[in-house]
Amino acid sequence: MKAGVVHAKNDIRFEEIGTPKPGKGQVKIKVKYTGICGSDVPRVNGDACHFFPNVLGHEFSGTVAETGEEVTSLKPGDRVAGVPLVPCMECEDCLRGDYSLCKHYSFIGSREFGSFAEYVVVPEKNAVPFGEEVSFEQGAFFEPATVALHGLNRLNYQGGKTVAILGGGTIGLFTMQWAKIFGALKVVVFDITPERLDLAMRLGADAVVNTGEADYLERAKELTAGKGYDYVYETAGNTVTIKMAFQLAANKAGVCMIGTPTRELSFSVDEWENMNRKEFTLTGSWMSYSAPFPGKEWELTAHYFQTGQLKFHESLIFKKVPLAKIGEAFELYKTPGAVKGKILVDSEGEEGQA
Ligand SMILES: [Zn+2]
Ligand SMILES: [Zn+2]
Repeated sequence: MKAGVVHAKNDIRFEEIGTPKPGKGQVKIKVKYTGICGSDVPRVNGDACHFFPNVLGHEFSGTVAETGEEVTSLKPGDRVAGVPLVPCMECEDCLRGDYSLCKHYSFIGSREFGSFAEYVVVPEKNAVPFGEEVSFEQGAFFEPATVALHGLNRLNYQGGKTVAILGGGTIGLFTMQWAKIFGALKVVVFDITPERLDLAMRLGADAVVNTGEADYLERAKELTAGKGYDYVYETAGNTVTIKMAFQLAANKAGVCMIGTPTRELSFSVDEWENMNRKEFTLTGSWMSYSAPFPGKEWELTAHYFQTGQLKFHESLIFKKVPLAKIGEAFELYKTPGAVKGKILVDSEGEEGQA
């Protein structure tokens, strides 16, 4: 089969490799689309790849092509989304159902071969079926949608409250939608990019705040009659939005860090003291799993995509790139700000081979 194989830093090649066979309890998926994740970029353009040669790709959709022995829940032709984490199922964290915290895990598309290929083999439970109403493009967005839902639930989330979403990227826009689905009084999305804010409104945000404007903090507070936000979800992982989370929180708020920080950061006494003075609860979120594996995050994503309540908009996709051009896709990330949204790699069809 054809695959995008990473051989070294800055060296990803479209080439022929062996087609994997499903073993006992595994399924072979004919890959349709794979999203390029922020975490894939340093694995190709930096030093974060675990080994060479490697095939990345962990946000994917496709159809079941073949099932191994003892597979009962899936059959050839089923439309599925890939679940990348393969937890050990034996450690204390796994036994408690906290699979995201497992330290002995494997991961499809970083620790074992992923879906920047025509086929990928995964354990049966790592393929979540979805209905006819859900497109294969949406199928490639399951993973970010589940990360958003896991983050929402890291706080004792209740409806009828005000919610701030910091960052209007893929995860932020799904977090906003989950907050609405579970009954938010008002959800406000904060970002610096007008196109992301427009998209947030189209996907159902109650209001948006452009953080590039000088008076944005005043506007943000006006939207809650000066009280601040009951829930604050940080989804960008940058210093500005992390600090903003401390400022926007209401008294007794819940604040959750979903975005992964990428730089050292420091707080002034005044900034940090927000947590004391407001007695807000601060927590973090990691990946998207719960018991029974892979968890309600995945089940509910399939359900709410099917009903249309979890909305999908074409402009979540920045570009579709055939697998043959995967190297060019990773080149785009070398120009800061050039990639505005998700790039989907298309593993199928003539154009996929071109
Ligand atoms: Zn990812
Ligand atoms: Zn474990």
